[in-house]
Amino acid sequence: FFVEHIPSQGESLVIKGSEARHMIRVLRMGVGDSLILMDRKGTRFQSRIASVQGQEVTVLLEKPVPAPPESPTEIILCQALLKARAMDFVIEKASELGVHRILPFASQRTVVRADHDPSTSRVRHWREIAVSASKQSNRAKPPDVALPCRLPALVDQWQDERAFKVLLWEDERSHDLKALLRSSAPLKTIVGIIGPEGGFSVEEVDRVRQGGFLPVSLGHRVLRAETAAVTFVAILQYEWGDLSLIPPT
Ligand code: SAM
Repeated sequence: FFVEHIPSQGESLVIKGSEARHMIRVLRMGVGDSLILMDRKGTRFQSRIASVQGQEVTVLLEKPVPAPPESPTEIILCQALLKARAMDFVIEKASELGVHRILPFASQRTVVRADHDPSTSRVRHWREIAVSASKQSNRAKPPDVALPCRLPALVDQWQDERAFKVLLWEDERSHDLKALLRSSAPLKTIVGIIGPEGGFSVEEVDRVRQGGFLPVSLGHRVLRAETAAVTFVAILQYEWGDLSLIPPT
């Protein structure tokens, strides 16, 4: 089960909301039942239900348990805002595949507004998907899902970063991701920008290129944005990350 923060020194913790409801109503758990608690930093505790009052569950933190390792390659997926189901898909699959951060953004052709208000249901919904996918895939912790920004601000944010920065562009004709990954030693941080259903304008591609991002192709077929996003993350984790049993170097 996921909680925002597990206090290292505390002995017990009160769990409320959907996680508590899931324990009591869906799984019919009760006093004495054991469970694993995880939090946003990747802390994990073997715990036991001490009491249930209404919709609140008090658990005893018994002992810390090791969490599985996160990928040594920090993948930061910058995803243009997509229609609801496609965006949910990208968040869920990228979380399962171990991305480190997801940065949603609006661009000239995104069809949905960039909600900047942190309390909007969309951002909260995406964060719930990220947590749920991380629990299901037994990750140490969920990826950070940032508030949506606009493409120019996103590019500026990474202006001075020396990370491996790529723009996934279907009209790119000279660089492809495969050759790029094969010609470079694994890097620690990769920032990948994926466009919306309508793609990027030429001005946007130039703006992103000036920000130090290299346009790369995933081959001649035109993929849906959600297909490109999952393919990009899977390739990176396979080539440089931990999509294998070989311990990361
Ligand atoms: N020009 C596309 C079209 O005609 O449908 C619109 C963009 S495509 C549906 C959505 C996004 O997926 C693109 O902005 C790009 O980031 C990525 N993408 C799709 N196919 C790609 C490819 N072959 N190589 C690199 N990126 C690709």
